Amino acid sequence: MRVAVVSDIHSNLTAFRAVAADFGEVEEVWCLGDLVGYGPDPNECVALLREHPHVCVAGNHDWAALGKVTTDVFNVAAASAAWWTAAHLTEETKEYLLGLPLEIDREGWRLVHGSPRDPIWEYVLEESQAEELFSLFPGRGCLIGHTHIPHVFVETPDGAEYLGPEYGDPLTLEESRVIVNPGSIGQPRDGDPRACYALLDTTAGLLEHRRVAYDIEEVQARMQAAGLPKPLWQRLSYGM
Ligand code: ZN
Repeated sequence: MRVAVVSDIHSNLTAFRAVAADFGEVEEVWCLGDLVGYGPDPNECVALLREHPHVCVAGNHDWAALGKVTTDVFNVAAASAAWWTAAHLTEETKEYLLGLPLEIDREGWRLVHGSPRDPIWEYVLEESQAEELFSLFPGRGCLIGHTHIPHVFVETPDGAEYLGPEYGDPLTLEESRVIVNPGSIGQPRDGDPRACYALLDTTAGLLEHRRVAYDIEEVQARMQAAGLPKPLWQRLSYGM
């Protein structure tokens, strides 16, 4: 099955549209949560995802916008965007977000937002963490988001090995079990402002990270007009 793995869209419709144009015809879209929060288009992003055959798990920002988790742990800008989002969600979007599960097992892959240990909150950045996580999910691999940083961890006899994302040349997974973060569409944080996602061929065992340029200034202007906090739209220029 040919799948587009997307995460952390964060209400950025312009970036999500550019990514959808890039992946074109895929059999399914697998979304790893944080559809909303930060950006100006929460309802439109949910609607665009729902135009595709897809599965989706919940992220911490989806839950924050629904009032299912406290915004006390968020910084001021993130909390203020969560309140803005809560005030702008339609009933239809709310109902959709409320129905999202914390984890999904599909075609031998585990999908979560944070980690298989803590699907909502854990940030997976280190080999030592990945090493502990490999025993916590079945099958081929685990797809995670939340950090907004694309990467691959491969299970090795000694633990886990970090592989940076490879662009333009698919990685052959063969028999190795992996933990993959496709990066963020709506607010990348690895120093590259372009939207990031991954293409996965579950049958051939091929994985490719992709970067897609989009009109960042157009989104920033709309965020500013919506009254969303300045640090949130400024950071889109730097991908940090
Ligand atoms: Zn996020």
